[in-house]
Amino acid sequence: MRKRIHSEFIGVAAVAILATLLLSVWVFYDLFQFQVLDDLKTYVNVVKDTINEEDLIREDQLYEDADIRFTLIREDGSVVYDSLADSDVMENHLGRPEIEEALEKGSGQAIRKSETLDKNTYYYALKLDDGDILRVAKEADSIWSILGTALPVIGVIALLIFGICVILARVLTKSLLYPIEKMAGDMENILEIKTYPELMPFITMIHSQHQDIMKNAKMRQEFTANVSHELKTPLTSISGYSELIETGMASDEDVRRFAGEIHKNSSRLLTLINDIIRLSQLDVEDQDISYTELNLYQLAEACVDMLQINAEKHDVILRLEGGPCTIYANRQMIDELIYNLCDNAIRYNNPGGSVIVRVGSEKEEGVLSVWDTGIGIPKVYQKRIFERFYRVDKSRSKSTGGTGLGLAIVKHIVSQHHARLELESEEGIGTKITVYFPKKSKQA
Ligand code: ATP
Ligand code: MG
Repeated sequence: MRKRIHSEFIGVAAVAILATLLLSVWVFYDLFQFQVLDDLKTYVNVVKDTINEEDLIREDQLYEDADIRFTLIREDGSVVYDSLADSDVMENHLGRPEIEEALEKGSGQAIRKSETLDKNTYYYALKLDDGDILRVAKEADSIWSILGTALPVIGVIALLIFGICVILARVLTKSLLYPIEKMAGDMENILEIKTYPELMPFITMIHSQHQDIMKNAKMRQEFTANVSHELKTPLTSISGYSELIETGMASDEDVRRFAGEIHKNSSRLLTLINDIIRLSQLDVEDQDISYTELNLYQLAEACVDMLQINAEKHDVILRLEGGPCTIYANRQMIDELIYNLCDNAIRYNNPGGSVIVRVGSEKEEGVLSVWDTGIGIPKVYQKRIFERFYRVDKSRSKSTGGTGLGLAIVKHIVSQHHARLELESEEGIGTKITVYFPKKSKQA
């Protein structure tokens, strides 16, 4: 790219230099011709008044040395006098263009090639008062001879300009490519690079894409690290307990207890893996999700029924309120969403507390809210609880079997359905999570 731009610059410069020089020679030659003819004209005008025919013939000698040639021609074309040749043997001059023109207009001029290529002969003819024609001629350099003389100088100048152009092209190419090269080298600070405005949209786009890529990479890295960590803890327990049983040193009662621990930890592993699989399924975009019309109230009812025993275990009252509401959604996902919200509301509750699930219908939206009188979420953590593996109180969450993926899944489902979620929570008082679903399909 750099090489190409550079050589193109130089190519354009070379053509420009050559064209300019040739054109100036041509213009100069035009001026030169004009000047020569003008000189001849002046000459004739001076001479015609001072010299008469007899003097001319008599004082032949006068003009012999000068490189100017005089010819006196009668109206009929016969040559009376010529300062260079013998007028007696000279042919009739009527056919010469400058004479023809002079007879017609009073004066005429012509340029003719000389015998040698590098000379031209310039003629100027003037009609005198007595009808004769006085003609002067002079040899001067032709364009080829001028070009030949000027060529070395032209060459030097051209080379000089060309050299300057090469240097300028290099500087220009460099400054042209500088921002682009800098961009490629330093993606992080791409916005700070000073560049031409035409590049700005391109830079902004690359910048945001780069940031997305980096963010994704970081998230993936964190996720992998978290997954490994989460898997390691229960596996370590399982491995430890089974080793104790293997050595045969544990009493029957211990074996039973250890088996219980192994069971608990492997169940935890299973839920964890299930959640991870679920998340990665949700992560795969462009998957075919089937949307149908669902009665949100019915789904919530089924979920509340299913979790009733669980609530009793936690000494929590679980209640459903509201009425029918139809939304356009994916059934499995909505089931998951309601389950996760209710599960949390029971799990992070206090004995004797309560959970109210409410389904309602607003103009454009179906509304589901899960409200509990539980431990609440401190303000500082409220944003973070939707992150994967994030748990406010790790020990409490773990003792209740939480992996920190439930709300991440909820968030995902909410965005898949173009729904929106509101969280209100106060530490020690309770939490209310409300999801607003659009009633009409926005997916199509
Ligand atoms: P999982 O749902 O995957 O089994 P989890 O319940 O720990 O595990 P999330 O549902 O994502 O994970 O919740 C993240 C954290 O947010 C919980 O660990 C808990 O600290 C807090 N949290 C969620 N819901 C509530 C709630 N209703 N009241 C208080 N804290 C909550
Ligand atoms: Mg949960």
